[in-house]
Amino acid sequence: MQNKRKGLMLVLSSPSGAGKTSICKRVLDKEKKIVMSISYTTRPKRKSEKNGFDYFFINKKKFDELKSSDYFVEYANVFDHHYGTPKDFIDKNLQNGIDVLFDIDWQGAQKLSNYSKDDMVSVFILPPNNKSLLERLKKRNEDSIKTVKKRMGKAKSEISHWIEYDYIVINEDLEQSANEVITILRAERKKRSRQKFVFDLIENLTK
Ligand code: 5GP
Repeated sequence: MQNKRKGLMLVLSSPSGAGKTSICKRVLDKEKKIVMSISYTTRPKRKSEKNGFDYFFINKKKFDELKSSDYFVEYANVFDHHYGTPKDFIDKNLQNGIDVLFDIDWQGAQKLSNYSKDDMVSVFILPPNNKSLLERLKKRNEDSIKTVKKRMGKAKSEISHWIEYDYIVINEDLEQSANEVITILRAERKKRSRQKFVFDLIENLTK
């Protein structure tokens, strides 16, 4: 039987340093039929990052051009840098039954929900405590002390958006958290509302 399920949008948000980027990588390694939405950003590239893999790193002029040509489904200013999610990539994959994974903040999650609420599943990742958040931010060792402090300072206001999400994962252990996200993904794929193709099967089974 052909699976005609439409793809879903799996959105992961968290305060900076709660480990969501690592969780995303694990999910992509372990699951098939899911791809990462790669955002565009004006933030300087970190040493460990690759252009076109972690982000598309662009300047403000290019960002503004893309923004005015409606290239982004959503964009936001986070920690004084611009971030935007390309639209075509999402539409193409969802139509082909491929799920799309997003590592975006609460502003982006809200806008994606306005774009296509029924296709969206959102997960908020929480750190087990403030100490671990600070340690993870410092361990990253790629941002200046000023940036680390700024991100730590913003964590509280980011956490206040937890209530807007469908699921909560407390990231005590990376492997376990990734598995929890995968469990959510697998269950959501099976939701009746996403199994529209089943109508044909039901018709055959009951005629
Ligand atoms: P970072 O600079 O640490 O990679 O990301 C900073 C924050 O921006 C993170 O919370 C990340 O999820 C968020 N972010 C990354 N890309 C996008 C995007 O395209 N849109 C929005 N709204 N947020 C993004």
